[in-house]
Amino acid sequence: MNRIFSGMQPTRQLHLGNYLGALRNWVQLQNSYECIFCVVDLHALTIDQDPEVLRNNIREVAAAYIAAGIDPEKNILFNQSYVSGHAELGWILSCHTPLGWLNRMTQFKEKAGKQKDMANLGLYAYPTLMAADILLYKATHVPVGEDQKQHLELARDIAGAFNRRYETEFFPQPEPQILGEATRVMSLRDGKKKMSKSDESEYSRINMTDDADTIAQKIRKAKTDPEPLPETVTELEARPEADNLVTIYSALAGQSREQTLAQFAGAQFSGFKAALVDLSVAKLAPMTTRMKELLDDKAEIDRLLRQGGERAAAIAEKTLNDVKDTIGLLRP
Ligand code: ATP
Ligand code: MG
Repeated sequence: MNRIFSGMQPTRQLHLGNYLGALRNWVQLQNSYECIFCVVDLHALTIDQDPEVLRNNIREVAAAYIAAGIDPEKNILFNQSYVSGHAELGWILSCHTPLGWLNRMTQFKEKAGKQKDMANLGLYAYPTLMAADILLYKATHVPVGEDQKQHLELARDIAGAFNRRYETEFFPQPEPQILGEATRVMSLRDGKKKMSKSDESEYSRINMTDDADTIAQKIRKAKTDPEPLPETVTELEARPEADNLVTIYSALAGQSREQTLAQFAGAQFSGFKAALVDLSVAKLAPMTTRMKELLDDKAEIDRLLRQGGERAAAIAEKTLNDVKDTIGLLRP
């Protein structure tokens, strides 16, 4: 059986990178897989959170999933902390994960910055909790953006280590699904840094909830170079900021970068940016409107999350019991 698990952190508003790199693909995949889509709120605790803001962000991410086209009845949609098995399996797997494996993780190095000793243990252990998220449901496929590839490889290694240790085929090896034209959307301020919720600069990203004026302002201010748009993708790739905007345009338009360049080669960035604003607003506005409607009825969002959480918990309980039996934890 093919089963998908994927999630987003309710750290701040979702942005275009989350949408193009992951969420949009989920919408397609829900028709051919059994899907579990999670709001990974335990992961969000790896940075300092205001309790009231966090609670709102959890509902907002759930609303974004639905507004993008995820059907909460057909799929399992829930928030991670509702199912305690994530934390439990996370602990068990962390006892099967050598520190050397975690030391290689580039996301920790980027997020911890220079003051590694001040970073919290959760940020360091993040990849083992992510492995638990996936393996708790024995998911076979995980649609994510490029940046999560290394963590998924680690999840595969952890599954393999567990299986070898207990001479079993218990955990499947989850396959990453890195799909589409924009698997790594870059910051609007720096073409070498990925667009992130946790970036301090609001101008580094376009949020799914930004209104038309804000989108226009952010794209107008986006870093570019003075050259007009090139004719070939090879020339484009030597200019990270230009490449990023062309990639975003192409992904939103549902076409290749070649096709976008055929349309805009020789144009100045001012003109191209105006077209990008129009396209972004046209694609995002219907989702923003739908999200706002959904968030007007918080009780209904909570009901959907609870319903999804119950369904997830039933699968999780079975896996966790089997794991406990396998490794020798007594269930009296
Ligand atoms: P944070 O800065 O808090 O880590 P994030 O923007 O990286 O936030 P996540 O919640 O960590 O978002 O990731 C959710 C999903 O979005 C993952 O599948 C991730 O690979 C994908 N994703 C995140 N950023 C990008 C990006 N810039 N381009 C494409 N996909 C992305
Ligand atoms: Mg991230």
